[in-house]
Amino acid sequence: NGTNGHAALPEWHSTPLEEIPKIHKDLIASFRTGIMWPLAKRKQQLAAMARMMTEQGDLWAKAIYADLGKPEFQANLFEIGIAHQAVRAIADLDEWTAPLKPDVHERHAEWNPTVYKIPKGVVLIISPWNYPLTLTMQPLVSALAAGNCAVIKPSELAPHVSALMAELVPKYFDPGVVRLVNGGVKETTRLLELKFDHIFYTGNGAVGRIIAQAAARHLTPITLELGGKSPVVIEPEGLDFKLVAKRILNGKLANAGQTCVAPDYILCPEAAQKPLMEAMTAAMGDFFHETDGKALHSPHYGRIVNARHFQRVQNLVEKSTGKVVFGEKQTDPERYAMEPIVIKTDGEDDLMKEEIFGPVFPLITVKDVDEAINFIEDRDHPLSLYVFTKSEETKQKFISRTRSGGLVFNDTMEQLAVGLQFGGIGESGMGYTVGKAGYDQFTHYRGSVDVPYEHEEAVSLRYPPYTKEKIDL
Ligand code: NAD
Repeated sequence: NGTNGHAALPEWHSTPLEEIPKIHKDLIASFRTGIMWPLAKRKQQLAAMARMMTEQGDLWAKAIYADLGKPEFQANLFEIGIAHQAVRAIADLDEWTAPLKPDVHERHAEWNPTVYKIPKGVVLIISPWNYPLTLTMQPLVSALAAGNCAVIKPSELAPHVSALMAELVPKYFDPGVVRLVNGGVKETTRLLELKFDHIFYTGNGAVGRIIAQAAARHLTPITLELGGKSPVVIEPEGLDFKLVAKRILNGKLANAGQTCVAPDYILCPEAAQKPLMEAMTAAMGDFFHETDGKALHSPHYGRIVNARHFQRVQNLVEKSTGKVVFGEKQTDPERYAMEPIVIKTDGEDDLMKEEIFGPVFPLITVKDVDEAINFIEDRDHPLSLYVFTKSEETKQKFISRTRSGGLVFNDTMEQLAVGLQFGGIGESGMGYTVGKAGYDQFTHYRGSVDVPYEHEEAVSLRYPPYTKEKIDL
């Protein structure tokens, strides 16, 4: 895979298979020394992560560009910038980790009833290629804040980022706390044979099932951050289409549609479709005025990750029975780039069978919001649901009658900016990431009491023999 003309970036190597059990064993030994129990140690490792991301920002941006052609602005905003999550975790750590003192019956009040929050142990984090830095470091923030030791396994499909990570991780983190394994199916399979205390996987649902089965052998708890088809619903009454078009398009343009929460398809009444498409064309004119309203050759637009995924998206477009109603079918096969398009079709089209993960929007006609709700609930629960509406009643309908990982009104992807807890439901995943909810995934809540010997009288009733006096009491 090599440096591809990016001389400053290191070369990708997979971790030799025989090293993997040793890495696992070393971390178990290290965890047992209590290395991560002091909060000062956790904060120091989190600070090291923030430094690794910011001090080496140029190299990360370069590696991300080499893997995905992501504009530097997007790399900074969505990847390098998440260093702030490590900083936030440092600030929140004392509060998150404080033992709980639950309210109990007065007869137990002096037993020091406490819920301690203990790290699960040695955890495994497996991440995908589409946001290769963020999706490795974000769960690692949670794992470290909770006091775990971690093996991280970044994606082989983002080799420049993974190689850079292999070089920088040992320089910034304590090797007794964080270790990296690089590789693909073989190496991940080897990792999955070992017993971890939690596995956090981000990626597609087919591999999610492999992870769940492997974890079941050891009864290892898992977090699965998966994907799916996130709908956009348009209730046109009173909407400013100019803004709506910009906000929808922006979600699809980020990383050329390869975002887990990218808006996947649009549900819209017939009469609103033409003005919406016109507004989207106008928005393209604004965004890409330097390149005649076309994204394909713009430096402000990314590309598809590799030949296989490029071909996969092309096949979906070719097999579609729908009609292009926005943009043009234009591609640059050399760079795996493609112009964003909207294809008007129906729910049976091949485009509606899987997550598109590319800059193609199926547009589907629905009569009204109720039909849209049925359409969504008939399918797998999406990771995100985007509803453009001015009506509070409609908002309430979506809150109470649909299921999805996240729900955003009148924009796309902005839930990520707010730092809310994040996770899927059903086919889009299980468990959470980000903030306190992410911390909780890697934490065991351990209930504890300390029963004073002086209270013997109060508890002595429990001892045999169970005399008649005791039973009658
Ligand atoms: P990918 O191909 O990089 O795979 C993800 C990880 O799984 C990699 O580390 C890879 O090495 C490992 N893997 C692949 N095959 C395996 C196997 N047979 N056994 C064990 N491990 C294996 O990434 P991807 O799955 O193409 O990622 C894209 C998907 O991830 C999309 O569905 C997207 O929606 C989803 N995603 C979800 C989130 C989220 O937070 N919910 C975020 C990003 C992406």
